[in-house]
Amino acid sequence: MKKRLKDILACPTCRSALTEGHRLTCLACGATFEERHGVPVLLDEESRREIDKFYGGRPQQEDADRQRKQTASRLEHWLTHPPSRKIGDKTVPNLKKLWSLLKERESDPLVLTVGKIKSRINRENSDDDADVRALEAVSVRLDIKAGPGVAVVGDGHKLPFLDNSFDAAIGLTTVKHLRNPFTFAVRASDGHIHINDVGQSAWEEINLGVAGANYGWPSTEGPTNAAGITGPLFAFDHSSGADNVAGFFSGCSVVGGAFYPDAGPFPQAYRGSYYFTDYCTPVVGRLDLANGNVAYAFGSVPGSPVGMTVTSDGALLVLTRSAVVRFTAP
Ligand SMILES: [Zn+2]
Repeated sequence: MKKRLKDILACPTCRSALTEGHRLTCLACGATFEERHGVPVLLDEESRREIDKFYGGRPQQEDADRQRKQTASRLEHWLTHPPSRKIGDKTVPNLKKLWSLLKERESDPLVLTVGKIKSRINRENSDDDADVRALEAVSVRLDIKAGPGVAVVGDGHKLPFLDNSFDAAIGLTTVKHLRNPFTFAVRASDGHIHINDVGQSAWEEINLGVAGANYGWPSTEGPTNAAGITGPLFAFDHSSGADNVAGFFSGCSVVGGAFYPDAGPFPQAYRGSYYFTDYCTPVVGRLDLANGNVAYAFGSVPGSPVGMTVTSDGALLVLTRSAVVRFTAP
């Protein structure tokens, strides 16, 4: 028999069952939760504060209000205009495989999906696919904001469901607490990922992409040893003063990036390195992966860089707002 949604809801703070009434009330701690348009909103105070910090960034300056509005409107746009390109050719096959396993094992499966899975996969493929539709039909969708198909508003860190409520869970979010991962690069030989995370007021980061990693924003920005946080491989700050640990490098918005392959016209010492630059400081940097991620200045470009790639013949191309600069040698 299909479980009723109200029978599996739990308090996000203490994970006890909720009573059903005018408001949803926790039987153990007494916390109460509202429903909006029939959708339970199971966010506790801590989650509400975290969401507010995330949407608003870290206000530090007199223009904090303006910044908060800008960040909120950027995120609103991003959330309501999901990327149109297909993300991950394997998503639909994986969902089909999950559905076939579930059908074998459960007569009446119930699945938890966290986040807007549907908006992140190829709509044309998935809408035509009977297995994906069947999987969606038995899914309870949790998100931190209401929207089409969202059954429960809640925080993925504090799943508001009783234990053993679901037969499977689907989540596409594999890294968290980046601030603005504007550009990233994947090393073709092995899938190693570098994420360029644009900072707010102090630090620009290059992070190693690791499944499940927590990069700390907005609790941390720049180098950190905080427990549970994956610090950057390399960071440079916004000031060129003496405190600039990157030495030669400061900027306002990290841009990149490209892995140079192990072969090509660049001298041996320059191969295998990761190249990056900055929108405000058009110095091209080189991160030496073979020697502890030490950074070196590599070259410079006129104007404001926005992207970078390595061509099949081994040249490093830097796209600026006004030109394409081609480096065929250091
Ligand atoms: Zn409770």
